[in-house]
Amino acid sequence: MKIPNSIDVFGMKVSIKLSKNISDDFGNALDGQWDSKSKTITLNAELKGVDLAQTFFHEIIHAIIHRTGVKQTYLSHDCEEIISENVSVWLGENFDFKLKRRTRNKH
Ligand SMILES: [Zn+2]
Repeated sequence: MKIPNSIDVFGMKVSIKLSKNISDDFGNALDGQWDSKSKTITLNAELKGVDLAQTFFHEIIHAIIHRTGVKQTYLSHDCEEIISENVSVWLGENFDFKLKRRTRNKH
C-alpha cells in the first residue's frame, strides 16, 4: 500500500510522515502515532505490507474519532485503542487497498 503524504478526514487535513524512531511519552517504541495538536500521523518507516496498512488505518481511526467528536463522549483511552486496533486489523484481514484520489482540478 502506498501511503499518501496527507489525507482528508472529514475536511481536516492530516499530514502523514514516516520515521524510523517513534516513541511514546515513556520512551516505548511505537509503530505509529496520531498527534491531534499538529494533526499528523507518524508511521514507522520500516513497516511493510499488511503491518503498514493496519498501522495506517489504526492511526486514521484515531484521527476520525478526534474529528467526529467521539472523544467528547468521554471515550476512555483504552476503549479508543481497542476500537482503533480491532477495526484496523479487520480491514487489513479482509481488504486490499488502493488510495483513491480525486482527479478533478481544484482552483
Ligand atoms: Zn492507538
